[in-house]
Amino acid sequence: MSATLINGSVIREEILSELRAETEKLKAEYGKVPGLVTILVGENPASMSYVTLKIKTAQSLGYNEVQDSRPPDMSEEDLLSLIDRYNKDDSINGILVQLPLPKHIDEKKVLNAIDPDKDVDGFHPVNVGRLMIGGDEVKFPPCTPAAIQEMIIRAGVETKGAEVVVVGRSNIVGKPIAIMMMQKGPGANATVTVVHTGSKNLDAHCLRADILIVAAGVPGLVKPEWIKPGACVIDVGVNRIGEKISKKTGKTIAILSGDVDFEPACERAGFITPVPGGVGPMTITMLMKNTLKSFKYSLGLL
Ligand code: NAP
Repeated sequence: MSATLINGSVIREEILSELRAETEKLKAEYGKVPGLVTILVGENPASMSYVTLKIKTAQSLGYNEVQDSRPPDMSEEDLLSLIDRYNKDDSINGILVQLPLPKHIDEKKVLNAIDPDKDVDGFHPVNVGRLMIGGDEVKFPPCTPAAIQEMIIRAGVETKGAEVVVVGRSNIVGKPIAIMMMQKGPGANATVTVVHTGSKNLDAHCLRADILIVAAGVPGLVKPEWIKPGACVIDVGVNRIGEKISKKTGKTIAILSGDVDFEPACERAGFITPVPGGVGPMTITMLMKNTLKSFKYSLGLL
């Protein structure tokens, strides 16, 4: 293997220790800590384990973490008034509503009810608009794209003038990372192409990329010969391709694969993110970063 591995778990620890230190400093100075509420409606097992991870991470940073679990038959009206309550609560800087919501609740209506200044996921249309404008307008970049950009920066990969190709145009990954990489500023200023299922000659586009960001959700979609020698490859895909028994716990766990054919890709790429252990561990970290940022806004520091 010749590519340098961009290790999400290592970068995650670096960022978490920066956030922890800043939280302690602000606590000593202002006697307050960031407040984050996670609202979970129902008992979807995947959502529950994701929420647990968010809670543990927030607690490890010294945040005031509020877990608000509600029954699956909670009405949309009650959920909207709960959000309104947290919108008005000065001790809460970030509001997360775990998706998916039960079918009788309109997700869009719920997400749009969150105060954009507490929308640390960055999904509210106001924050999407701010991202589009760029620069100082951006308050909360969405977490997975923010993770991707942070990894590229920390790996020391030059973005200015780079050809960036993004595979995928979802609202949570493809579109926002494309916008972020084309903005004027550090860690960006690139020339961006976005490809999707309507694109022709996917291989030729990928082969032009100095930085190839793949978020399609198709295991092994990107073949090694599609990678420009020396390119930086960010594999966002997380695909369950089977199951195995964990040697540590004896439990059945998923076998995960990315969208890039990893082993042979390492022979071509200059930098590459693994799956698991790449972008995955970074997303919650960026959520914590946005929460601290929201807290700093509330203190008038930003
Ligand atoms: P999504 O909403 O399903 O979007 C996938 C995008 O990829 C779509 O724009 C689709 O094109 C495009 N696409 C699919 N197959 C393609 C193909 N054969 N050729 C070209 N384009 C293709 O998925 P997502 O939410 O963006 O997630 C993408 C992957 O990233 C998933 O594996 C997901 O699990 C993973 N993910 C990981 C993290 C993390 O690590 N923290 C976070 C979010 C997502 P069309 O628009 O034309 O359909």
